Amino acid sequence: MKKIVVVGNGMVGYKFCEKFVSQTNSKSFKITVFGEEPRPAYDRVHLSEYFENQDAKALEMASRAWYEEHGIELITNERITHIHRSSKKVSTTKDLHYKYDYLVLATGSSPFVPNIPGIEKKGVFVYRTIEDLEATLAYAKKIIGKSKKAVKAAVLGGGLLGLEAAKAVMDMGFEPHVVEFASKLMPRQLDTRASKVLQEKIESLGIHVHLSKATNKILGNDVITGMEFGEYDKIDVEMLVVSAGIRPRDELAKTCDLKMGVRGGIIVNNRMQTSDPEIYAIGEVALYNNMIYGLVAPGYDMAGVAVDQIVGDSKERMSSAIDMSTKLKLIGVDVASYGEPFMPVEKGYSIIYENKTKNLYKRINISHDGKKLLGGILVGDASDYNMFHQIYLNGLPIPEDAEELILGSRGEGGSSFGSVLDIPDAAQVCSCESVTKGDICCLINEGDCDNLGDVIAKTKATTGCGGCKPMVVDLVNETLKSQGKEVKETLCEHFSFNRQELFDLIKINKVKDYDEALNLFGEGDGCEVCKPALASIFATITMETPNKQVAIQDTNDRFLANIQRNGTYSVVPRIAGGEITPDKLIVIGQVAKKYDLYTKVTGGQRIDLFGAQLHELPLIWKELIDAGFESGHAYGKSLRTVKSCVGSTWCRYGMHESVTFAIEIEDRYKGLRSPHKLKGGVSGCIRECAEARGKDFGLIAVDGGWNLYVCGNGGATPKHAVLFAEQLDDETVVKYLDRFLMFYIRTAGPLVRTAPWLDKLEGGIEYLKQVVIEDSLGIAEELEEEMKGLINKYECEWKQAIENPEMMKRFKHFVNSDDTDDNLVFVPMRDQKMPKAWN
Ligand SMILES: Cc1cc2nc3c(=O)[nH]c(=O)nc-3n(C[C@H](O)[C@H](O)[C@H](O)COP(=O)(O)OP(=O)(O)OC[C@H]3O[C@@H](n4cnc5c(N)ncnc54)[C@H](O)[C@@H]3O)c2cc1C
Ligand code: SF4
Ligand code: SF4
Repeated sequence: MKKIVVVGNGMVGYKFCEKFVSQTNSKSFKITVFGEEPRPAYDRVHLSEYFENQDAKALEMASRAWYEEHGIELITNERITHIHRSSKKVSTTKDLHYKYDYLVLATGSSPFVPNIPGIEKKGVFVYRTIEDLEATLAYAKKIIGKSKKAVKAAVLGGGLLGLEAAKAVMDMGFEPHVVEFASKLMPRQLDTRASKVLQEKIESLGIHVHLSKATNKILGNDVITGMEFGEYDKIDVEMLVVSAGIRPRDELAKTCDLKMGVRGGIIVNNRMQTSDPEIYAIGEVALYNNMIYGLVAPGYDMAGVAVDQIVGDSKERMSSAIDMSTKLKLIGVDVASYGEPFMPVEKGYSIIYENKTKNLYKRINISHDGKKLLGGILVGDASDYNMFHQIYLNGLPIPEDAEELILGSRGEGGSSFGSVLDIPDAAQVCSCESVTKGDICCLINEGDCDNLGDVIAKTKATTGCGGCKPMVVDLVNETLKSQGKEVKETLCEHFSFNRQELFDLIKINKVKDYDEALNLFGEGDGCEVCKPALASIFATITMETPNKQVAIQDTNDRFLANIQRNGTYSVVPRIAGGEITPDKLIVIGQVAKKYDLYTKVTGGQRIDLFGAQLHELPLIWKELIDAGFESGHAYGKSLRTVKSCVGSTWCRYGMHESVTFAIEIEDRYKGLRSPHKLKGGVSGCIRECAEARGKDFGLIAVDGGWNLYVCGNGGATPKHAVLFAEQLDDETVVKYLDRFLMFYIRTAGPLVRTAPWLDKLEGGIEYLKQVVIEDSLGIAEELEEEMKGLINKYECEWKQAIENPEMMKRFKHFVNSDDTDDNLVFVPMRDQKMPKAWN
């Protein structure tokens, strides 16, 4: 029996074993795998998810039982220290010796830690293993718990991994700072303009960015207290995560004289053989084509080639063209680059679409003959990434006017290409698992699979870096549709139900929280689509405020405030119907003066206060609440304002008291969480000074009562509200509104406003009238009862937060601090202040 020893049980070492067992069940090989880490291989690509649940098992690639089942001996917590080529043996830290016939080196890489004076101090970490994350988390808990002020932490490196680490640092409760040596973020993947757009996005999340900074020194005695870039250029930080690149773990090659690259890495040929043909190197330790590929997909290909060489027909060779396309896995920030992101003039030309107001940047690089897509960059909206990637990889034809790819055929900034079914069957959709479009469609066409889960289980597509998931979903859906099958709309990959179904399931089963819902009806760990969507469902069913399940809220709901472009927050107290007493106006003025906030009257008839730092929010809100204000929910997907004109009280044209009615309605629905924001308006006559027809619901006073309009909005796609019922009395208006709003909340998809919801509603406005006015579904009473229950349970979430020490924990380390953020620079503007960056 031939012995195969695999050194390294990381992602690629594991993949070697998996491919080995799927290719042969021959009993003539015995595999022994050594892993230095204490646990079996886990999904390093999704390492950051460990911060959320600290569940190492959830990341495991395969259990110990799997190795046993396939006759593979897995020895963890054991490092190989030497290779003895002459005797074909390896020895371990415990001085044990193992013989091999074939040796596979899959030792990966380690984080590169630059030799900066002081880098060894306490509080400096790297980001590679579960143990690294555990150490970072333990340290973070210790220092954040002690401090009463904002604690800053830096990440050294503004590349893909550095930005992922910065988000993790922020989620730990630090004020995050990214320090990058180059003059732009993600210098390897993005051009300068794209990088600038990305920087704005990153900063809007509250992550501070420092570019062109060479760190001279890590400051502090035994423990890090700051970073020095120049004599007068430093930042105070209490923790540092180094993410400055990787170095191959090639130390074993030195013990046995294998050929190595000048800058490290074990040299391999296209069969993955090292300079000793019986020793293979795969993954991030292998130097192939003079390059180390820091991505998982090439590592998986290498594993396949090595297996084929050892047990197969040895035909397979590593391709010379390695695809380095990447997509950033940062919540709320869409960034991708594929093929050749930068375009040398001799190869082709570029078309760039930039929309500064929407923070969008799209670049495509086209061959000189205009026939091929050679690469490109997407920032702000990467939804076209998979399609562009396929066009690039497979050399698919592009429109005659290439700009249509990013501008759409009418130049509207959309994109135009055909269906996913148009790509060739041989196109590789999942590069990690080498799954082609044909593999997926074939499974469905031949009746082996009829849903996404089965396709994933059979092909393993999407289980590597996960970048291909949207395309695999599209392929499955489009193939099913082409067979005339109904395709179910689902919330996301974690829940195979739509929002309406989940709403009912949660309600009927009296589910209490997100984890229970995931357990009962979902799978995996959840994502940024399903978490806020379920938060909104819980809020509607139980009037649960965001203080309850903080972890599943989006950033604005987590901090009960809208984050602004310089990382500060806005404070928006409710001013129902736009009516405010002089005393309350004075309080707003006093608070704004005390905390030096920029004040502005908004289109919703209230006063926004801008420029508050996170630690100031509870202090500001305490003063406002003491003066009788409540949260204005400007941060939530919930009722914002009900705008009113002065109506019959003051206006000589007024037919009814629009202010009184607007206040009554705003107070009735305040805090009501919904699929998207909701706005209302009440005008005292048809002159429409409150612009009620530009709102989700609007009332216009007419002879004999109110005319009710629904499903309008202003914004980017303005839509006039539609006349729903005429000459209603106050009571009937409220009844219809209760029913209408509750029906919308129950049935709309996440982030769908009332106007597009009505557009999609089968039967349109007439159907809506039947449900709400004629009670055609027999649910009117239920809808009213539900609404009443929610109204009775209303509580101001800011009052809740400042009165409850447990809820205040997320603000706690900022409370009572007079410290301000040194990085925030304001300049005067018309007797107020504005952030310097706006210049
Ligand atoms: C946070 C993070 C996010 C990432 N995101 C992405 C992404 O989005 N897309 C992508 O394509 N890639 C991503 N990567 C990179 C990807 O994880 C790597 O390309 C992949 O893990 C490489 O696999 P490997 O098996 O070669 O190395 P590793 O996963 O590092 O495994 C090597 C293993 O060998 C062990 N070992 C080393 N020396 C010895 C020895 N002498 N004896 C015994 N054991 C030894 C190590 O302890 C380690 O467990 C990410 C990496 C990180 C850290
Ligand atoms: S406030 Fe509204 S309209 Fe004005 S810049 Fe911001 S998003 Fe645009
Ligand atoms: S809508 Fe009519 S009632 Fe209201 S302010 Fe304008 S004119 Fe007066």
